[in-house]
Amino acid sequence: MIGVLGFGVLVLGYRFLPRRLAVGLAVLWWGLLVAVQSPLLPQPNRAAAILGGSLSAWLMLGAVAVVVFGYWLGLRALRRKGAAHKPVADDPKAFRPAELERYARHIMLREIGGAGQRRLKDAGVLVVGAGGLGSPALLYLAASGVGRIGVIDADVVENSNLQRQVIHTDDRIGLPKVQSAVIAMQALNPFVDLRPYARRLDAASAEVIADYDLILDGTDNFDTRYLINRLCVAAGKPLIAAAITQWEGQISLYDPARGGPCFECVFPNRPADGMVPTCAEAGVAAPLPGVIGTMMAMEAVKYLTHAGQGLRGRLMIYDGLYSEARVIATKSRAGCAACGAKP
Ligand SMILES: [Zn+2]
Repeated sequence: MIGVLGFGVLVLGYRFLPRRLAVGLAVLWWGLLVAVQSPLLPQPNRAAAILGGSLSAWLMLGAVAVVVFGYWLGLRALRRKGAAHKPVADDPKAFRPAELERYARHIMLREIGGAGQRRLKDAGVLVVGAGGLGSPALLYLAASGVGRIGVIDADVVENSNLQRQVIHTDDRIGLPKVQSAVIAMQALNPFVDLRPYARRLDAASAEVIADYDLILDGTDNFDTRYLINRLCVAAGKPLIAAAITQWEGQISLYDPARGGPCFECVFPNRPADGMVPTCAEAGVAAPLPGVIGTMMAMEAVKYLTHAGQGLRGRLMIYDGLYSEARVIATKSRAGCAACGAKP
């Protein structure tokens, strides 16, 4: 029974020894007990008789210890994760430790820092369209830690979307796009507040727009684009709008309330129906919406954190086929039907 006594001594000595040393000694002692009982030595032998027990009993003890230890490790990991995700007691808006760790590479940027990350967390961004442009824009807004993200779209996920709409997955075909997008963003960042609107944006959507600080337009039809611009102008909200076709994309920030033209200042004449083909009619290179949609998220992060120079009064055109990008200046247009800009 000296074998059992040995464990007893270690339990008593546990409070005086470093934890790792005590566990190490217990494992060594157990190894010795198993070794002297093992068929590798002539049985029965003197050491086995003195230490006592049997091979099966010591092996059983070892197995029980491994299970208990594993359970304890799992429990400890869960508790730590729980503590990291818990809000700091007195301030529900404070960053949790897991968020500080998550956004560390943002916070270390001079242009963003803690103050910029705070602005992102306090901001609400509405993305119109969870398609090709919306997919990367939404994912990067969520990853960046924008506190409240709304997404409005009436469509369901279709097989032909998956060539470029990377927020959706094959097993979510048939699901409303906003629901699929929320699943993806939630999985990426559980710390952001997500608001899906499974409907078309129409003239009655002014109250939705009013709830957000910044609007991103990734839709692919002109009626909606002009309508979003009118709603944003009326509400005084900044609008980052982008468009793509085949190999080329363009993006700008329309913000007449803070200077610069609105979308209709730059594109006063709505193209006649059928003159500008949609992606479904003309095709689109799969990574193109990835490039332009990611630029939308980039401009959104810059706008919200006040970093760098945004695209107000400038239109960026990216040509994927020839790997060229250029930026042209845009101006408010006197007598614009949407923003009524003065010359
Ligand atoms: Zn205008």
